[in-house]
Amino acid sequence: MPERERGEPSQGPGAKAVPPGSGWPEDPATSATPVADSAADVHELAAGAKSIEELAALESVCRACPRLVQWREQVAVEKRRSFQSETYWGRPVPGWGVERPSMLILGLAPAAHGGNRTGRIFTGDRSGDVLFASLWRCGLASQPTSVTAGDGQHLISTRMTAAVHCAPPDNKPTVAERDACAPWLAAELAALRPDLRVIVCLGHFAWQALWPQLIMVGVSVPRPRPVFGHGAEAAMPGDWRLTVLGCYHPSQQNTFTGKVTDGMLDAVFGRARELAGAAQARR
Ligand code: SF4
Repeated sequence: MPERERGEPSQGPGAKAVPPGSGWPEDPATSATPVADSAADVHELAAGAKSIEELAALESVCRACPRLVQWREQVAVEKRRSFQSETYWGRPVPGWGVERPSMLILGLAPAAHGGNRTGRIFTGDRSGDVLFASLWRCGLASQPTSVTAGDGQHLISTRMTAAVHCAPPDNKPTVAERDACAPWLAAELAALRPDLRVIVCLGHFAWQALWPQLIMVGVSVPRPRPVFGHGAEAAMPGDWRLTVLGCYHPSQQNTFTGKVTDGMLDAVFGRARELAGAAQARR
């Protein structure tokens, strides 16, 4: 198991990624955080994590998927024209939010110029703009916008994560990449289990990725598997009082075409808050 940084990126404007522990706001890792270099490493490190904070740190330095490592770092060097003057995060985007949430929001993967740039999930892209505005209206986020890590935004009784922690080309991870990343999700579910009451899956990919990991952590899931749809609601039949909700992904395409609207998002997150018994008051 490697306990050093492989492919340590350089500092400065041409850096391929932000070095762990170098002062980036909300960076959960340090230069001593062990690096997963393979799917087997992910499995071992995720299983051994002792807290949700340690898990986030481990996720944030993972290098198990060669194609995604190459892509996320290439994007961080080339950058979008409008962000040329910025330093990109260029690392996996870890789970983020409160440490003992009653609600978990599960997305697909970070956006190349969103989370892969800012280092925080759903932060700095159009999907996040729509999502955070809804969370704020529903009393689940402290601010209506999420622009950069360290901007003061925080979630209320809620945590966010992704089925795949690295930005994939065309937003399409392979099955092997999804499976390599799955132990991080299973470990997050296990760590959050005591307080977690509702999981909101943003899109079909997240919905599909969730069920095997719930089973991995010993949850009884409905049979046949519930069908994804906006507002789909599935209560787990076992002794963990947990409900899974489906929500159309607030992607640019879905919001531009009206497939998902502000009202539709608010309806799902309002229902999620009701199920979670989440704190109403904004801190
Ligand atoms: S997608 Fe997941 S498993 Fe693959 S390199 Fe990124 S964090 Fe690691």
